[in-house]
Amino acid sequence: MARIKDTSVDAVKAAADFVEVVSARTQLRRSGGRYTGRCPFHDERTPSFSVNAVDKLYYCFGCGAKGDLITFVRETEGLDFAAAIEWLAERFRVPIDYEESSPQQARTFVNFVSASDSVVAPGHSAPVQFTFHVVEPYHVNSSQPLAPELIPTQLHFSLPGEIAVGKMQYPAGKLMSFPFDPSTKLSVYSGDFVVRGLLMAPATASKGTYTIHAELKYQACDNNSCYPPKKLPFTFNVKVGTRSASRKSR
Ligand SMILES: [Zn+2]
Repeated sequence: MARIKDTSVDAVKAAADFVEVVSARTQLRRSGGRYTGRCPFHDERTPSFSVNAVDKLYYCFGCGAKGDLITFVRETEGLDFAAAIEWLAERFRVPIDYEESSPQQARTFVNFVSASDSVVAPGHSAPVQFTFHVVEPYHVNSSQPLAPELIPTQLHFSLPGEIAVGKMQYPAGKLMSFPFDPSTKLSVYSGDFVVRGLLMAPATASKGTYTIHAELKYQACDNNSCYPPKKLPFTFNVKVGTRSASRKSR
């Protein structure tokens, strides 16, 4: 489970009204700088439960129960630390962020190697190719992985109006079977693989160099299991200009 960021934990602690939280469990009365009530952790007739609303701490003079806001929610709601934070965040409407650095998510499965330099004349098209490298010992599903539940490898582009992208041609995958499902052959990429396509510029395109943001969406697996789908963002440049420049640049 993803870890909640410390900043979010602090924000939740700051936003939560401890008196309100405790009041849902026992009736509190203000007494000087504190609140007192009957202890929610043991059966009693006279109030010996004391709440410090500012520091968000509690102490019971009867049974010795003590702790802070988080302990109170954990004990009374039967939750672990993360769930107690989430419970409070929902109640006091605090957005929470999670760390994205769990070891599995930090793993690199695929690297972007290169994009060919492309020069497109207005009103024409030019070939482009993208090279990726799948890190050992992983493989990724091909663009046609042969099993409906597997996520195909696909490129997505955020295009400026000046450039259009034709249909991409993905290489055929290697057919392999894996120990986790020896009877099924899957179509996968490993090592380097190259995706080819065409870039097009409308006749009205202004000359210039455009940086295009793109993303490779893929799902990596190793011999034991498949990992959640990931996106590999990358950028490449396309020049809208004359064709002769295209030959020179290669
Ligand atoms: Zn008590």
